[in-house]
Amino acid sequence: MSQSFIDAEVAANLDDVRTAIAQAEADGGRTKGAVALIGVSKQQPDERVDAALNAGLRIFGENRVQEADGRWTQRRPSYPDMELHLIGPLQTNKAKDAVRIFDVIQTVDRPRIAAALARAMADADRALPCFVQVNTGQEPQKAGVAPADTAAFVKECQDVHGLNIVGLMCIPPAEDAPAPHFAFLKDMADELGLAQVSMGMSADFPAAAELGATHVRVGSAIFGVRAKP
Ligand SMILES: *Cc1c(COP(=O)(O)O)cnc(C)c1O
Repeated sequence: MSQSFIDAEVAANLDDVRTAIAQAEADGGRTKGAVALIGVSKQQPDERVDAALNAGLRIFGENRVQEADGRWTQRRPSYPDMELHLIGPLQTNKAKDAVRIFDVIQTVDRPRIAAALARAMADADRALPCFVQVNTGQEPQKAGVAPADTAAFVKECQDVHGLNIVGLMCIPPAEDAPAPHFAFLKDMADELGLAQVSMGMSADFPAAAELGATHVRVGSAIFGVRAKP
């Protein structure tokens, strides 16, 4: 496929997603523009990522530090206004790289990661906004803090580690209706005085946008089906 064909296809997808977000903002009584769109570019070919950049998308999410490094270190200088979010699980030994590569960390979910990030941010003199990931479905295999532990963990991140916790993030169980998880996460963020809420993916971002998301994380609806990891 030629780059111009890919550009047209991704631009059309992006248009559809933006239209759906605007509609959801209206339906949910949200302020226009309240929901930021993160294009999840993990495991997507570079041509599709370039197409999204050509179409004006400037916020991207990646779930692996190494993949993000390869893709974005060379592109970033051309797009000084872009913002890169880490949306996948982080290992402590990658904290330093993550702080160098990303602008926002969405997946803080245990004390050792909070400590490693705090150390890396101090060393780099780079205080990144962070989200705490909440395992709203309490799935044993999934990352995130249990809902019952979230308030204490947020406080620990702030008071012990000095992290700038700006919000909460969740990935609802695939088999559940997502809306109750979205409403739950938004309520919890309100209770904790956190302004930002990252929730909603390709299958359910309109519901998330209606229910209070400030960030939706959309991959395949913009870029197409991902290659297998
Ligand atoms: C992959 C991923 C997404 C995007 O998924 P799509 O269904 O392709 O929109 C969003 N959030 C996280 C945490 C992901 O890992």
